[in-house]
Amino acid sequence: MRIHRLPQSLVNKIAAGEVIERPASAVKELVENAVDAGASRIHVAAGGGGIEMLRVSDNGCGIDPDDLELALACHATSKIESADDLFRVGTMGFRGEALASIAEVSRVTIRSRTAARTDGAQIEATGGKLSAVAPCGHAVGTTIEVHNLFYNMPVRRKALRSAQTEFGHIKEAFTRIALALPSLGFTLSHNDRPVLELAPADDWRERIALFFGRELADNLIWVASDEGDVHMSGYVAHPSYSRANSRLQYLFLNGRFIRDRSLQHALGEAYRGLLLTGRYPIGFLNLAMPPEAVDVNVHPTKIEVRFHDASRHYSQLLAMLRTKFLSTDLHARVRSDDAVAPPGAIDEEHAARLRRELVDWAKGEMAHWPDAAAAPDASPRCGLAWTETAEPSRPLTLTRLGRAWRAAEHEDEDVPGLDDAGSPGDQPAGDSPGNVAPWPAPAPARAMQVHNRYLVAETDDGVMIIDQHALHERILYEHLRGRVLADQVETQSLLVPEPVDLAPAEAAAALEHRPMLAKLGMRIEPFGGDTILIAGYPAMLANMNPAEVLRALLDRLLEEGRMPDRAAVLDDLLHTIACKAAVKAGDRLAPEEITALLEQRHLINDAHHCPHGRPTALVFSREELDKQFKRM
Ligand code: ADP
Ligand code: MG
Repeated sequence: MRIHRLPQSLVNKIAAGEVIERPASAVKELVENAVDAGASRIHVAAGGGGIEMLRVSDNGCGIDPDDLELALACHATSKIESADDLFRVGTMGFRGEALASIAEVSRVTIRSRTAARTDGAQIEATGGKLSAVAPCGHAVGTTIEVHNLFYNMPVRRKALRSAQTEFGHIKEAFTRIALALPSLGFTLSHNDRPVLELAPADDWRERIALFFGRELADNLIWVASDEGDVHMSGYVAHPSYSRANSRLQYLFLNGRFIRDRSLQHALGEAYRGLLLTGRYPIGFLNLAMPPEAVDVNVHPTKIEVRFHDASRHYSQLLAMLRTKFLSTDLHARVRSDDAVAPPGAIDEEHAARLRRELVDWAKGEMAHWPDAAAAPDASPRCGLAWTETAEPSRPLTLTRLGRAWRAAEHEDEDVPGLDDAGSPGDQPAGDSPGNVAPWPAPAPARAMQVHNRYLVAETDDGVMIIDQHALHERILYEHLRGRVLADQVETQSLLVPEPVDLAPAEAAAALEHRPMLAKLGMRIEPFGGDTILIAGYPAMLANMNPAEVLRALLDRLLEEGRMPDRAAVLDDLLHTIACKAAVKAGDRLAPEEITALLEQRHLINDAHHCPHGRPTALVFSREELDKQFKRM
């Protein structure tokens, strides 16, 4: 591997950019070089947050003494030769500017030896000035030491944070590389204290465990998908493990850490309904595709890339996760918080308890299950009370559905999760004829809630399993859409308008879309600068923080580029609100809530899929069941 200068035309093709922003960026470049050199062991040491000292040593191919000067020269690389190569980059580096940039702003020593030589050689650079190459002792491989970063750039140096913070950035940069390459051994130390020691591992999960703990690693779900020459695989966390931000979403493209809004969005979509609002899924995902399917040269640190077919990757990722979730038993461990269960213990004990509870409950309740024809009290019930019925902490917005009847009072509904509404054709029990349901309710069904997330209902000719969140979201969506079309969205006005500080782009989007937001019940006023006043917000989301609602809507608006037109944007916002307002998987429903939901199940059927292909209900016909049980 010899080094040569790039032709000027190519130099110009490579967008100029600041490569070294802080010690962590130097670590990233140096470790990537070690990886490119084919090292199997890489050691990173930092002193004083990496500002005083950084040292990266490897057992890679080494640098020939004759190439040492060139290694430190601008736009000198051994990794690409022509502009064409730029579009099929297979190495981590290729710009040939990292070492030169680091050497410009610090004192750098390189010691290195190739397998072909018996001796090592070293070179030093201070503020870009090179020393002569001198012999030194070194094993095959390279050690690069960086001292006093930004010593000649006082402004940059001043902008650095505390040693601890800078070391935090170093650790993150290190993590992004070491996580992607479990077969390589790594160590990281700070001020001579070992911080991470990562032995080479066969299994990615082992590496993940070293970084993020055994418990999370044990609760990962393996996913994989091949579409054409795009291969995706990796681990996503069980929905009971989530974070308040997206930092634990590690995406790797051909072994390189990337950030990609669209793919992260797909990840979030896949967990829609499985996580509480404001929670982010955890995932470690690897994308492998031919280098020519993506342009990695759009960002100086290559953290953002441009896919030639981004929407295809979006769909592939989403489909991969949804398919997996549908065939995975996710229920047993769903929790709505981050509480950490004692490792191992939870599963069996907890599952056993759930099973016991379910059996006890079923035994008791089966006794009450009326024989439809004979039961004297099989009176019609419409369930839903007009006033707030749910627990105050988690108000169920079904009450805002605008149903035109007032529910009869039911004192006898002491049975959680079971409902025995009347027989087909019954009218909901109304106080007066004028308060009768506006549409013919479908045949009332016996139903129960299982695992606080699915409703199982008997239908005329089989069994229906409904995703409670999906159904509720759909109901709220229809309701809200009707309201928006009629310009009658309920707004929760704020007595004292709430100021929200936004990013400039968010504030601009908010003002630009003010009329549309108003249509949705979100009333805002400019307040100067990037501050927006919230005067009112959708009543459907009354139990949420208004600022949070605004931000969620703006997040969607800022993605508008991906949507064809205003109608699609409005529709998307409707979905966002409906999704946020709907009951979640894991929410226990009161019997009348179940009834109310089921009465509108005509809004879904097994053929109806949400826009991304996830079914909202499954139907098993009796015939099918009979067949399965070999009754016919
Ligand atoms: P790039 O990685 O983009 O080629 P760099 O400035 O990071 O540019 O490095 C310049 C050249 O120095 C590399 O192309 C490589 O040939 C050599 N080099 C740098 N670090 C190492 C290393 N740890 N082992 C072997 N060669 C290295
Ligand atoms: Mg490099």
